Amino acid sequence: GRGAHVRRPLTILVGDSGVGKTSLLVQFDQGKFIPGSFSATVGIGFTNKVVPVDNVKVKLQIWDTAGQERFRSVTHAYYRDAHALLLLYDITSKSSFDNIRAWLTEIHEYAQSDVVIMLLGNKADMNSDRTIRREEGERLAREYSVPFMETSAKTGVNVELAFTAVAKELKSRAIQHPSEPKFKIHEYIEAQKEKSSCCGFF
Ligand code: GDP
Ligand code: MG
Repeated sequence: GRGAHVRRPLTILVGDSGVGKTSLLVQFDQGKFIPGSFSATVGIGFTNKVVPVDNVKVKLQIWDTAGQERFRSVTHAYYRDAHALLLLYDITSKSSFDNIRAWLTEIHEYAQSDVVIMLLGNKADMNSDRTIRREEGERLAREYSVPFMETSAKTGVNVELAFTAVAKELKSRAIQHPSEPKFKIHEYIEAQKEKSSCCGFF
């Protein structure tokens, strides 16, 4: 059909080295987990993904950062051009969680003020090695008014949901239907969480 299209909004994965950014993108793109670190990956790469939202194809261009995980080294132009930022920590790494505040400071400094930000606590499958409780992630997210969920690039839990929620938010911003109620990303995520509470939602 001639459904409306949202043109490749840019989504960027950020967070400390080793939190699972590349693995998350591979899981979303290819539906699989490749064990072992991708940390040797050179530079910044991207994947195009079409996410159907209602009758609209949202074409996400998702950029992975690598070797730029130290603060002030993700090129500021990338922040400026980003429509959405997925900010990851690793639930087994306290330092990656503690650094989230510094990441958010940098994001607020350089990104567009209306950028969609989502906080993700990755490696949710490693519950026995967990050092950050889910409630701590939720509290931090609430403090910054950003949506939050725990994901696993390994099992795939919540990976689709994270990107779909971002796609829905971007679509609702790009295509304004005055008759439609505004999409509310927090409410959408909460509703999805409730629906999947039976099945290993973290
Ligand atoms: P990046 O540096 O943020 O891109 O992180 P990588 O994707 O390279 O992942 C770092 C390490 O964590 C690798 O050994 C991955 O296999 C592992 N890893 C990433 N995501 C997960 C996850 O959700 N669960 C588990 N158990 N391991 C993960
Ligand atoms: Mg990587």
